[in-house]
Amino acid sequence: MVRLRPRKNRAFSGFTEAETARMEELLKENGEESLKQNSCCKLAKSFNCSAGRAGKSPVTWKQIQSWLQNKQQDLTEKTTSSPIASNGPVAPPHVPVSNGLLGSSSEMAKVKMDPDLSNLEFEARSSKDGAWYDVAKFVTHRVLPSGETEVRVRFIGFGAEDDEWVNVKKAVRERSLPLEPSECRKVKVGDLVLCFQERTDQSIYYDAHVSKIQRRLHDIRGCRCIFLIRYDHDNIEESVRLRRLCRRPSYYDPPGNA
Ligand SMILES: [Zn+2]
Repeated sequence: MVRLRPRKNRAFSGFTEAETARMEELLKENGEESLKQNSCCKLAKSFNCSAGRAGKSPVTWKQIQSWLQNKQQDLTEKTTSSPIASNGPVAPPHVPVSNGLLGSSSEMAKVKMDPDLSNLEFEARSSKDGAWYDVAKFVTHRVLPSGETEVRVRFIGFGAEDDEWVNVKKAVRERSLPLEPSECRKVKVGDLVLCFQERTDQSIYYDAHVSKIQRRLHDIRGCRCIFLIRYDHDNIEESVRLRRLCRRPSYYDPPGNA
């Protein structure tokens, strides 16, 4: 199966400068209102009809909503000194994320129902191409004779025909977070990152490690640094910009999950 669409919509960074400016403006003016589906749909429509998007793939309302949500979280973080209002998923560090999925279906239900975990989002590694994709839902689970648990995942943007059984310990983890230009300093040599790999026939996210960072002065376009990364699956090196990288949530990065 060839996957043509990037599924990691939270990390979508293909907006034009004009579009980014427009979204920032809307967020400032309308706040929460701008996150609503109909507002995002309207915006997607107007973006897709604009000359600036000619020749580019159309944006979806979900991509717009995700972008706005991230931006808003970012703003909230900056305007409050409370450590509680931190960016990203709200689960405290000690929450046994995978354990919640490992056990019985009632445990899975608990994960779903627990308000503290309701914002947690997951990504799963496809056995077909070794790339990570965002999980829409966990369909069911099974325990293998070996005692290992597998979950059947539905990927965002794909139907039931693309569902996959994946090992819950090795191939499911909390979703990686897109990096904003201001977070560039968080990326260090040796870090595990998720890198958006753009090829002529497919665009997908692979695990990679940062081997070198060429820091540069940031300008109006944001981060100009160049990151030399090495993909884990084929050891190929590539120089990329920050916008193609996602970082692992720092508190949930089990060793050996690379
Ligand atoms: Zn930078």
